[in-house]
Amino acid sequence: MSIVNAKEIMIPASEQGYSVGAFNITNIIQMGAVVEAAVEKKAPLIIQTSVTPSQFLGRDVLVAVYRTLAEAAPIPICLHLDHCTDLDYAKKCADAGYTNIMIDASKQDFEENIRQTREVADYCHSIGDISVEGELGTVSGVEDQVKVTEDEAALANPEQAIEFVERSGVDIFAPAIGTAHGVYKTANPKIHFDRMEAINQLLNGEKVRVPVVVHGGTGIPEDMVRKLVKVGGAKFNVSTELKYTLIDTTYNYISGNREQYNPGKIDVAVKDATRAVVGKWIDLLGAAGKA
Ligand SMILES: [Zn+2]
Repeated sequence: MSIVNAKEIMIPASEQGYSVGAFNITNIIQMGAVVEAAVEKKAPLIIQTSVTPSQFLGRDVLVAVYRTLAEAAPIPICLHLDHCTDLDYAKKCADAGYTNIMIDASKQDFEENIRQTREVADYCHSIGDISVEGELGTVSGVEDQVKVTEDEAALANPEQAIEFVERSGVDIFAPAIGTAHGVYKTANPKIHFDRMEAINQLLNGEKVRVPVVVHGGTGIPEDMVRKLVKVGGAKFNVSTELKYTLIDTTYNYISGNREQYNPGKIDVAVKDATRAVVGKWIDLLGAAGKA
């Protein structure tokens, strides 16, 4: 019960108007912290890794830890591969046991994006109950190996979104709507709520059910986060804030305890800080008590 794909926990979120928190981790301490926070909040959870940490830690190691944590947890948990641009690597992660795969061909032209996304979707669906996320338009900023300048960032268009989803076979869909990866350069990011709402309505009617994902959660003002959930964001990606939490907590701990050589205490500090951040996000997304 606890091992799930992303689509099955996003459909109730999309119907009931909350969002499943999707938290990027780069190590096992963070993975444990994210799970503990979601268990405390009784919330469904998506754990994400981008490609680099999955290569560094090893996808089999990550999947083994994920399965161990998820099988012991009383909540549904998905393990998602974020922004993979390499078709073969995406398939390898599906083989290893990731339960949601994002193939990011959004920098390709429309036809090539569909072709690559379709290839990964067909593969994942053929080997098991693995859902696939595709992206249309481009989210600006840097996420792992994917770098997009603000000029290059193009919004998703609702008519193309329908065509993309139908032809690519994706289960969940990430439209570019003006959110950014990394830290926002402005206090008032220009987010296109109307476009998000139009896309969500087109993709989540009687016949079609393709829940919508928001990328670039870090730094969006809270009222805008609530509004994005209201207009259909059923998965909310938070990456940069957890990286900052890891690095700042480690730095502060070492600065304040320079004479101490006890790495376990750094781990505890990082775990506590990460759990607090994730708990805050779960409350904000309305997902507490939904598992
Ligand atoms: Zn992203």
